Amino acid sequence: MNPSRRLDIAIVGGSLAGCMAAVSLRRAGHDVTVYERSRAGLVGRGGGVTTSRAVLDGLKGQGLIDRDFPSAPYTEILLSKAVGPDDRYGRCPLRLPLAMHCLHWSGLWENIRKRVPDDAYHNGMALDRAEDTGDSVMLSFEDGTRARADLVCFADGYASQGRRAMFPQTALVYRDYLVWRGVVSEADIGTDPILEQHPRISLRDGRGSFISYVIHDRDGSLHPGRRLVNWAVYLDLPEAELDDFMIDAAGRARTGTIPAGHMRPEQDAALKDRMRRALPTYFADMAAASRDNQIQLIYTARPPAYRKGRMCLLGDAGAMVPPLTGAGLFKGYENATGLGRALSGDGPSDLDAALDGWSDRQMVLADAMLEMGHQMERAFLYDTIDLATAGEAEARAWFDDALRIAPEFSYFDPSLARPAQAAQ
Ligand SMILES: Cc1cc2nc3c(=O)[nH]c(=O)nc-3n(C[C@H](O)[C@H](O)[C@H](O)COP(=O)(O)OP(=O)(O)OC[C@H]3O[C@@H](n4cnc5c(N)ncnc54)[C@H](O)[C@@H]3O)c2cc1C
Repeated sequence: MNPSRRLDIAIVGGSLAGCMAAVSLRRAGHDVTVYERSRAGLVGRGGGVTTSRAVLDGLKGQGLIDRDFPSAPYTEILLSKAVGPDDRYGRCPLRLPLAMHCLHWSGLWENIRKRVPDDAYHNGMALDRAEDTGDSVMLSFEDGTRARADLVCFADGYASQGRRAMFPQTALVYRDYLVWRGVVSEADIGTDPILEQHPRISLRDGRGSFISYVIHDRDGSLHPGRRLVNWAVYLDLPEAELDDFMIDAAGRARTGTIPAGHMRPEQDAALKDRMRRALPTYFADMAAASRDNQIQLIYTARPPAYRKGRMCLLGDAGAMVPPLTGAGLFKGYENATGLGRALSGDGPSDLDAALDGWSDRQMVLADAMLEMGHQMERAFLYDTIDLATAGEAEARAWFDDALRIAPEFSYFDPSLARPAQAAQ
């Protein structure tokens, strides 16, 4: 089949990757319908999301977001650690150049979503089953509705039903750590010059690290004093402790995430207490001031391809990469815009060739991201040197040894890029 023929394309999942794909595929001339499980817009739930300058420029250049969409740029990361219990900001033996931008998650989603016509985006549509019939796919939804498509793109997140249907042997691998995160208002914690910096702070009392960065407020303002501050702690948690840990405030066992506002108050309080011992005082105070925090367990997954028959994977439904890489947005952007190009008049004339070429390229990117993610896990969770005592030369030698920055997607400055080393 010729992909320049107008295809009926169904997208399951209308979050970042799904909406970017809808825009790209519509522009490539196809009929696109998005089916999103959530009954309401995906607003008010997200915090911040980081990306590289290259991806932000790409989003704007390709008209996926407004040219004036606000983002907070950071040009340096401070690798730090508290030297004692009263240390306010921590000691920083190593600063590295960044090309990173921090964005408001819900604001970003709304900005992309407004480019998808309302009559092509259906809320409250939870996919139940997808059946590849050879030259089309039949979709069945939980409400009993059925739909046919020439091609289905699964953008249904890390626990993707599509990935399970296409590649049942691809498992989600728990990485033995979690992210505990929240958002505070700068108005509540007070303006401080350290907010212009992006720190990654090793914990004093065990494995893990803390980050923070600013994002715009709900009105789009990046005015100092009005911004929001997104913080996150990466903490190790053995699999054996998951069952006890993942009980929410209602006593319900959760898998994968405990959403904002659903953590047990005593669990949140215990983590805040721990931060008093683990972090410089300024950042422990930041976590202490934060309400409605959330937990996200970290998994990776590597499907063998992004395409099987008439089914494709996009964003977190494809490869799951450690969030330390900041690759969440990059993946969806690259998968979606790449598919748009492959299925445009400029792509191969044969649909199978177009999809296979696109899938191969996504696998190359996924493997580079996974490798860098594993290196970052070792560097920032398991084999960090003692940044409270290390000199700059020692810290630089450790960093150079620990990480090979992949040039294509990293939020580090491209000057730090070196070819990826083979997986160990
Ligand atoms: C509400 C929300 C808030 C988030 N906030 C942040 C944040 O603050 N910072 C951050 O870094 N990342 C956040 N993420 C995750 C981030 O968006 C992703 O890791 C990444 O950007 C890739 O996005 P995605 O579109 O591939 O997957 P996701 O953003 O996970 O979206 C998957 C979508 O698929 C839908 N879906 C799932 N199953 C079905 C089904 N059976 N039928 C139909 N639809 C289905 C879900 O409702 C969801 O909208 C958030 C995700 C969501 C959904």
